[in-house]
Amino acid sequence: MYDYDLLVVGSANADLVIGVERRPGAGETVLGTDLAVHPGGKGANQAVAAARLGARTALLARVGDDDYGRLLLDSQRAAGVDTVGVLVGGAPTGVALITVDPSGDNSIVVSPGANGRLAPGDVRAAASLFHASRVVSTQLEVPLETVVEVVRSLAPGSRFVLNPSPPLPLPREVLDACDPLIVNEHEAKVILGDACVSDRPEDWARILLAKGPRSVVVTLGAEGALVASGAEVSRVPSVKVDAVDTTGAGDAFTAALAWRLGTGASLAQAAAYAARVGAAAVTRAGAQASYPTAAEVDAL
Ligand code: ADP
Repeated sequence: MYDYDLLVVGSANADLVIGVERRPGAGETVLGTDLAVHPGGKGANQAVAAARLGARTALLARVGDDDYGRLLLDSQRAAGVDTVGVLVGGAPTGVALITVDPSGDNSIVVSPGANGRLAPGDVRAAASLFHASRVVSTQLEVPLETVVEVVRSLAPGSRFVLNPSPPLPLPREVLDACDPLIVNEHEAKVILGDACVSDRPEDWARILLAKGPRSVVVTLGAEGALVASGAEVSRVPSVKVDAVDTTGAGDAFTAALAWRLGTGASLAQAAAYAARVGAAAVTRAGAQASYPTAAEVDAL
């Protein structure tokens, strides 16, 4: 009945990475390594992660009519994502300028570019994609009014998954649609704001649930995750691996969870699978380059 297991609506960025001995202060110039350019952005990452696992995946996003836009389209197609919903033009492709020092700490400047021009009208124009998709997932690297329009465009019976990153206070209409809302520790604290009165992730999940989502997932890095719906909160253990690079782990987790939910898995089952996908992703460098196939997840 559905053409797509997952429709991802979100950002696509070129990540421009330079290694430096020391990140520059105000007015300072430092020399670094050769420039590395990687496809990134949370929407693009999620779509690649899902497609690599075997999900029939489409991406609704906007890139510029430029070399970085073509790089992003190529990486989506190579992973098997349907790019019929990727709009081209209106602004330069979004870019993240990343400096990384030897300790792994980074400084990042993002120019949203075309991501900022993904408009509510673009969502309305993609109605056929929404009707063809079992699950729709999004993040907050595109305008909030566009995310609101995504919620209004959901087909009856489809499921909405949101990772509110970067975190912002969310309108009730968006919170109510989430099934689940997926947050890491930082995002949980920002969304909770003054309501963050405890150090326990179980309490964050309960308070977040009371704000309207039908279910909540809190990701806890190497500690795994926890899932909450109704009165039940349960822990999802992490898979022990040697972590090399955690970039993009949350995007892989979200994509895997969204896909498994669409296949009929329970929230706890889908999160357990997603934890395996997240663990596999941290064993390799990069974001999209680190995402596993289903066979690699099974072998973990
Ligand atoms: P984000 O990238 O959004 O901050 P997390 O760091 O919480 O998200 O990672 C998402 C998921 O990936 C975790 O819930 C966990 O399942 C898995 N994961 C992340 N880091 C590790 C790690 N070091 N070891 C095993 N699993 C990990």
